[in-house]
Amino acid sequence: MDSRVDPGRIRNLREAEPGPGPVLYWMRRDQRARDSWGLTHAQDLALALGRPLAVVMAIVPDYLGATLRQYHVMFKGMAVTAPPLAARGIPTLVRLGSPGESVARLAIELKAARVVCDFSPLRFVRRWDAEFMAAAVNIGLDQVDDHNIVPCWEASDKAEHSARTIRPKIKRLLPRYLKPYPEILPHPHSWPDPVPAVDWDSLMRMLPLDRAVGRVPLFVPGPEASQMVLENFISRGLQSYAEKRNDPNSLVVSGLSPYLHFGHIAPQVVALAISTAEAPKESREDFLEELIIRRELSDNFCYYNPRYDEPEGFPAWARETLDVHRVDPRPDLYSYAEFEAAGTHDPLWNAAQTEMLLTGRMHGFMRMYWAKKILEWSESPEEAHDTAIRLNDRYSLDGRDPNGYAGIAWSIGGVHDRGWPERAIYGKVRSMTLAGCRRKFNVDAYVSRVERMAEMVGP
Ligand code: FAD
Repeated sequence: MDSRVDPGRIRNLREAEPGPGPVLYWMRRDQRARDSWGLTHAQDLALALGRPLAVVMAIVPDYLGATLRQYHVMFKGMAVTAPPLAARGIPTLVRLGSPGESVARLAIELKAARVVCDFSPLRFVRRWDAEFMAAAVNIGLDQVDDHNIVPCWEASDKAEHSARTIRPKIKRLLPRYLKPYPEILPHPHSWPDPVPAVDWDSLMRMLPLDRAVGRVPLFVPGPEASQMVLENFISRGLQSYAEKRNDPNSLVVSGLSPYLHFGHIAPQVVALAISTAEAPKESREDFLEELIIRRELSDNFCYYNPRYDEPEGFPAWARETLDVHRVDPRPDLYSYAEFEAAGTHDPLWNAAQTEMLLTGRMHGFMRMYWAKKILEWSESPEEAHDTAIRLNDRYSLDGRDPNGYAGIAWSIGGVHDRGWPERAIYGKVRSMTLAGCRRKFNVDAYVSRVERMAEMVGP
């Protein structure tokens, strides 16, 4: 059978003679049983060699400060992802502890023919790749970018300056890469021994997770839920996305980011559905700009800028201007705990923070305001950057994502932006004000809505 995956999407991290055992697909960032180039490539290899195929997940209980809120999404998602894989003869194996080492041990034990993994630009996941390579020296490893429509390494070979510079590069390659997915076939080479189904609920109860931030009751994880969210968005929000997406009261945005973050839905599935949807052209184009260009620019930022989550990763002009304004008076200063408790003097900021605490979400427009005000009300840009990342990663359903690191670096450190007229504290970094928000949308209505939500949930 010919390979069903474009070779540009696959990187051979290590070549090796195939062992006599199965092919393993190491699922990390893109957790789904279908619409997966990584799984398709792993199946192609297994079919060509006539070998069984399994999915392996290595779970760490403390991934980048994630709490029960995010683990709940992952475990519930896997509980509906593993059964359709099993029905196709592809068991799911779980390993606990250091991912690179535990997957390497499993691959050595099974004398794996080859391991295929998905791609993330984040340093922690890249460290797992390196650990695997160091521990399983005789096993081949392929990596497949299943998160970007145009593979990150194909789109560009350097950190891009802005959306303006990456846009033509991505658009040029879209006709090649924006293709419907092939089916994952029933796998004809069965696993030698019966593999008991994983009890994901027990696993979630057993692991020493940070349970201080609870799950979001109304959020339903998984591929089916994500498909429903997409369909609902196409029939409602998309119709006026171009016009109203920056109004936090309008509720026209898709709400897909947690599903995209966990890989419950593939970006290509979303892009193809939006491209052919019956909706105004401008709305479709604006949405695809966010889904493809902005989202893939974030992966580019984290992949080519090793300091993506530190102020040292800001462009030189922004570091300089923030430094010049380091000494500016800061009449309102808050600690991490005060920010966390939504205890500032600004009802709009507090409402945005409360929304994130309660629902694990914050409207995209409010996210910009939220992060910029943290800069204005912190002792230093470094402290502000740290506060914003910690809060976003701890409370957001879609946190610990390249979009988060890029969005925070854009807000506080001018990444992918240009210089603006100079102002206190911000210097030439773009500022935002409460008065500006009042001109754009009904601030009081937003604050009242969040207050009502908080009353319904209770203390
Ligand atoms: P929609 O407007 O429906 O957009 C559809 C998809 O396009 C999103 O799901 C997302 O994948 C992508 N997208 C939209 N806006 C952006 C953007 N500005 N940059 C990159 N991709 C975008 N996004 C996250 O996924 N995780 C985060 O932790 C995160 N933190 C952020 C923090 C700050 C300070 C800022 C300014 C932005 C952050 N973003 C983050 C980007 C963006 O705000 C969210 O992706 C978006 O609000 C998610 O809501 P949605 O799915 O309804 O978006």
